[in-house]
Parts: sequence; structure tokens; C-alpha cells
Amino acid sequence: MTAYPIIDHTFDVVVVGAGGAGLRATLECARQGLKTACITKVFPTRSHTVAAQGGVAAALGNMGEDDWRWHMYDTVKGSDWLGDQDAIEYLCRNAPEAVYELEHFGVPFSRTEDGKIYQRAFGGMTSHFGKGIAQRTCAAADRTGHAMLHTLYGQCVKHEVNFFVEYLALDLIVEDGAVRGMMAWKLDDGTIHRFRAHKVILATGGYGRVYFSCTGAHTQTGDGNAMVLRAGLPLQDMEFVQFHPTGIYGVGVLITEGVRGEGGYLTNSEGERFMERYAPNAKDLASRDVVSRAITVEIREGRGCGPLKDHAHLHLSHLDPKVIHERLPGITESARIFAGVDVTKEPIPILPTVHYNMGGIPTNYMGEAVTLHDGNPDTVIPGLMAVGEAACVSVHGANRLGSNSLIDLVVFGKAAGIQAAKSIGENPKHFDLQKNAGEAALERFDRLRYAKGSTKTSELRLAMQKAMQEDAAVFRTGEVLENGKKRIAEVYKAKADIQVRDRSLIWNTDLVETLEFENLIAQAAVTIAGAVNRTESRGAHAREDFPNRDDKEWMKHTLAWLNNETGEVTLDQRPVHSYTLSNDVEYIPPKARTY
Ligand SMILES: Cc1cc2nc3c(=O)[nH]c(=O)nc-3n(C[C@H](O)[C@H](O)[C@H](O)COP(=O)(O)OP(=O)(O)OC[C@H]3O[C@@H](n4cnc5c(N)ncnc54)[C@H](O)[C@@H]3O)c2cc1C
Repeated sequence: MTAYPIIDHTFDVVVVGAGGAGLRATLECARQGLKTACITKVFPTRSHTVAAQGGVAAALGNMGEDDWRWHMYDTVKGSDWLGDQDAIEYLCRNAPEAVYELEHFGVPFSRTEDGKIYQRAFGGMTSHFGKGIAQRTCAAADRTGHAMLHTLYGQCVKHEVNFFVEYLALDLIVEDGAVRGMMAWKLDDGTIHRFRAHKVILATGGYGRVYFSCTGAHTQTGDGNAMVLRAGLPLQDMEFVQFHPTGIYGVGVLITEGVRGEGGYLTNSEGERFMERYAPNAKDLASRDVVSRAITVEIREGRGCGPLKDHAHLHLSHLDPKVIHERLPGITESARIFAGVDVTKEPIPILPTVHYNMGGIPTNYMGEAVTLHDGNPDTVIPGLMAVGEAACVSVHGANRLGSNSLIDLVVFGKAAGIQAAKSIGENPKHFDLQKNAGEAALERFDRLRYAKGSTKTSELRLAMQKAMQEDAAVFRTGEVLENGKKRIAEVYKAKADIQVRDRSLIWNTDLVETLEFENLIAQAAVTIAGAVNRTESRGAHAREDFPNRDDKEWMKHTLAWLNNETGEVTLDQRPVHSYTLSNDVEYIPPKARTY
């Protein structure tokens, strides 16, 4: 047994993550009467959700006609038919209630003249099944995530949730094929904690930091995803990485799609509004994959802006300064600080930047993690659930629509809480953990804590980030992806020589970053393997050597398992759910995707 004294805890549910998804799940578990712990490596209100700007989608119809069926249609189309339609129905149908709930919890939404929740236009959001433009994205100025996160945190405090703040979750405890808890390291005093629980809900967010330039926080290292890989379980659709069209050139800080929703537009070096050529109807409000590719083509064909002709311009100086002041104060500040631009006078230099991971832990619409087992692709993994960006429900399929993540967090966070209560209610007795429960996690911890190699974590991380940025980008080819796969395999191998200098247990950021790096490289391996394997173009995965979507071969989810020793990836598939939950809507069959 390990040398670490272990502090034991028992809860009904342990939620890992205190972003929008984790807090909404935690809150629901508490409201259902479950004894709930929420573990988070940063203070809850510092989770990446705090940075979400544009808003949260729900067909409220406050600013014109709307219908959740239109929202569903848009989401299926946005997903390029890789989304599971039962889950998409659940999302869109429950979205209005979820937003009203947020309003009643206290989210300070912007308002219309008559006091209703303000809603703006967003990419890919239409009315009448693609015919008009819908204003569906509910916004609190351009700081919607901030408002949501603070409100949800307040609600959790009100329900006396047990927060474990600045605890780094290390690994799942898995016994007899069931998840029974979680190991964690308390960062400020170095103690090791073992949580026993009926359910572990992973809400650890995305892994944008696998790339060199991303809009996400430094904490976005996909720790939960990597724990799942280490437990011998698969991740799903990891090849689908979203590039947001408008990251600030050179720094990657996000400028929300809400800017284009309010009337902003893109131009190339000739001053041309080029989106009119690529998406004659939706123009600047086409879905993100379409706009990111258009910008990349403009730059490639020599129409990029600036001396290096390597970016595009986003204009909003024609907008009423009152609109900018009231609706877009956050990005006005970001543009000033990070690009030195006064948005009322000049365009913002922008470039597509990694923004969101469509892939993650496969789940059903109740938040239960699933895997392919004995031929059943929907086998529920006992004890394990996942929500938010870490999960792949899959409502976003091959491409997420803007403002559909924030709604995903709260709809499925709540669903997971309800399902946890239901399933624990059936069998409330706790299992006794085996004597050595958690030992594997601590062996890994020690291996890195005492690592004596000669290569710095930061060097390996940079090599990984450059490989992903260059070889798994907006456009992909088999050859370039193969090269990237080789580079990632080399980094994977090189981590045997990793160097950690600080051996202490208190605020050891050297070790934290090394544990996080090991999580990242695992996800890099499965992401690039999936991308090599998928010989079609769908949503965010654009293969120049296979430019068409191939529904016959590829309307399937990728499942990826990792051999954690060698870094080798094994792939298989799950069928896309091509059915709805109720008779209220019909399955939306695939068709060509034009905007
Ligand atoms: C700049 C930006 C703007 C965005 N704007 C919008 C928008 O307007 N609308 C929209 O719909 N979407 C938007 N998105 C996407 C959306 O914000 C995210 O997908 C979403 O907030 C993710 O929420 P989450 O709860 O899954 O994870 P996060 O908010 O990332 O939270 C992850 C949590 O997990 C915890 N955690 C992780 N690893 C560990 C560990 N090992 N141990 C303990 N705790 C751990 C962290 O402490 C944190 O609390 C935006 C994203 C970015 C980056």
C-alpha cells in the first residue's frame, strides 16, 4: 500500500468540475436530496464557463416567431447529421424551461423594451426550418457565461453543497467494471483524498490546450476524458475539433459570434464581404465550420489582411455605438487590450482559433456514460456519468452551433442529477471499497512526482501543441494527419524522459502541469487517430483528400480506446441514433448542408 495517508469520504454523488455543467448537475443532485460533493481544481467561478460571451440558445420566441422544432432542425443540420436525434430533441425541447429556471435562479439577462429576455441572432440558428433567421440566443450583454456561473454557484451555496475547492482529481476508482469513486490531491496542503460514491459525474470541460492557439482557459486539459481513457474506456468523436472563426489575431482571445449576430461582418484584404460567396443566405451567420474554412481559403488564395496577408477583418464600427456599449462591452475591452483596436472606428484582426471539442465521453441523454460492450453500443457503465463539454451526448455531432453549449450544460446537468437520484434510489447501499482502492492512481502520481528524466514538461507540451496546430487544422489531408500522428507518437514516447523538479506536495504547479500534460497527450493521440481514420468530410472535420460527406460509410460515431503504456489507439464505431424520443417530431433525414 502507498505511503500516503488517505482521507476518506463517502457521498451519494461526486461531481468533478464546477463549470456550468458541474454546478447545474451538483445543484440538481442536491435538490433531489442526494449527499453531493463537487470537486474542482479552480475556484468554481473561475471555470472556463465564466468566459462564455454570446449567450445561451432556447426557442423562447421573444424577438420574433420561434419553435423548439426549428431549433432541433438547426442543431441536426449544424451537426452535419452526426448528432443523436433523441438527445437533440431532449435538448431543444427542454431548453426554454432551462432558461426560465436560470432566470428565476437570478441570472441578470439583458432585456427587451417590454422586459422579456433579450435574444440575438447566432450562426446557423434559423426559423421555419432554414427559411428565416431566428433570434434565439438569450444574452446577458456579452458576459452570459459569467452571469450563469455566478448565479449557479450562489444556488449551490444556498443548497449547502459540499465543495472541495482546489482539489485536483487524479483518477477514477474502478472495481469489477463499475466506477465507485475518485482519488484527489488537495493542492494547498498536499493531502490525498479518496471519495467513495454511487455515481461519479465528470464535468471537467474541454481539452483545447492540446492545441497551440485556443480560446480556452489554461485549465482546459480534459482531465476527465483522460481518466476515462486510463480506465480502459473509450472516448467518442474526438476528431471533431471546432475552430471559432473570430479569435483575435496573434493572441487567440475570443470575439463572440454575437458581434456578427448584432450586424458585424467579415472582409478580406480587398475589403470584400467574402461570406456572401460562400454562404449566400446566411452569409456571416453561417455555421462556424463553414466560416472558418472560408477565412482559411481567403488567406490561402492571397486575400488575407495585414502585411503578412494572414488574417481577416471583423467590422462593427457601422453599428450604433449604443448597441456596442450595451450589448458588446466585453469584446470592446478585449479588442482594445489585445489588438489595440477601437471597435467604433477600426476593424478587429481575426483568425480561426481552436474553441470547442465536440468529442468526449459517450453518454445517453440522461448523462449516463456508455460504451460498446458485447455488441451493445449503448451499454451503460455502472457508476459513471458525464456532462458538459467533457461529454459527447451527442447533440453537437460534427459541429456545434454557437450558444448550444451553454444550453447543453444546464439541460443535461439537470438531467444527470435527476437520473442519478433515480438510479441511486433503486439501490442506496454503498459498496465497500477494496483495500487497495485508488492505489493505481497514486502509483501514477508517484511516477510523475519523482520523474527524473531530462525533458521539461513545457518542451513536450509545446511539441504536442505545434503538431496538433499544424497537422490537425481547419483543413486536413491523410498525408499531413499521418505526419501529425507520427509527431504525437514521438512526444508520447518522449514522456518516458519527463522531468519534474519540484517533489513537494503543496502548490506544486510543476507536478500539476505534468499531470495535465499527460492527460493532454492521451487526448492528442485519440484525436489524431480518429482524424486519420475518418476518410470523409463532415462538420469540422474537413479532409481535402475526401471532400464529400459519406453517409453510407461514415454516419457513425468513432470510439477510441488508448493503450496508455504505448500510446496506441484502437478504434471502433457506434451507430448514430437516427430516431427521436417522442412522436412529436420525426427523424430528420440527411441532406446536403448549405447555408
Ligand atoms: C471564450 C469562450 C467563449 C464561449 N462562449 C460561449 C457562448 O457564448 N455560448 C455557448 O453556448 N458556449 C460558449 N463557449 C463554450 C462553453 O462556454 C463551454 O463549452 C462550456 O462553458 C464548458 O462548460 P463545462 O461546465 O463543461 O466546463 P468548464 O466550464 O470548462 O469547467 C470545467 C470544470 O472542471 C474542473 N476540473 C477540470 N479538471 C479537473 C480535475 N482534474 N480536478 C478537479 N476539477 C477539475 C475545473 O476546475 C472546472 O470547474 C465559449 C467558450 C469559450 C472558451
